[in-house]
Amino acid sequence: MRIVLVGPPGAGKGTQAAYLAKNLSIPHISTGDLFRANISQGTDLGKEAKSYMDAGNLVPDSVTIAMAEDRLDQDDAGQGFLLDGFPRNLGQAEALDGYLKDKGVKLDAVLDLEVPEDEVVKRIAGRRICRNDSSHVFHVDYHKPKTEGVCDICGGDLYQREDDREATVRKRLEVYHTETEPIIDHYKAQDLVVTIPALGKVDEVTRRAMAALGKGE
Ligand code: ADP
Ligand code: AMP
Repeated sequence: MRIVLVGPPGAGKGTQAAYLAKNLSIPHISTGDLFRANISQGTDLGKEAKSYMDAGNLVPDSVTIAMAEDRLDQDDAGQGFLLDGFPRNLGQAEALDGYLKDKGVKLDAVLDLEVPEDEVVKRIAGRRICRNDSSHVFHVDYHKPKTEGVCDICGGDLYQREDDREATVRKRLEVYHTETEPIIDHYKAQDLVVTIPALGKVDEVTRRAMAALGKGE
């Protein structure tokens, strides 16, 4: 399946993507994780992206679209993918439409995670991620690691993302409303959007998501 996940920062996209990708045997592609990996490796791309990310702004399309398409070109994405955090504005959505058209394939669904803003703020405030791999995600109250500050998956240090601090979070939510939300109407026009409530336990949300994708038990 070819799926795009949308929802505000902190909605649980990365958390759900880990389970959905495993259940559906498709790669989880997060542009935020790709940028963070570039930052920790000190690449030119990472250096360019960092100032935008720290300010809560989108990284320019010229950089982001090329990075996403490079990742989609890899063999493991040939039979399907779960995109998380891309596309994030109309220009990126149109670029993805063109990319898929050239390949002769189509999206199967755009899964929209709906979470009230006060819950999103609580989720982001308590989020801790792993220094080794930013797809290893925990929460100080809702998803505690077995040992405080240590990743259950790989033993790496857990830390708070620079852009998860309060002032930046407000900016990121504003950017979500002004730049990202319009892609939902873009995909509604293609009859691709399925919206699910993303409140409740992680495994309940996964069950709702699988059912919405027509893969429920
Ligand atoms: P996104 O990728 O949409 O920004 P994440 O998957 O990183 O969001 O989740 C944000 C935070 O909320 C993380 O700390 C995660 O552990 C926590 N979280 C995710 N899903 C739930 C849930 N269903 N209930 C409570 N907390 C959750
Ligand atoms: P995320 O991990 O999805 O919360 O993304 C973290 C940050 O990375 C965002 O606030 C942006 O600065 C940047 N980013 C991630 N994906 C994109 C994208 N598709 N377009 C532009 N910037 C992005």
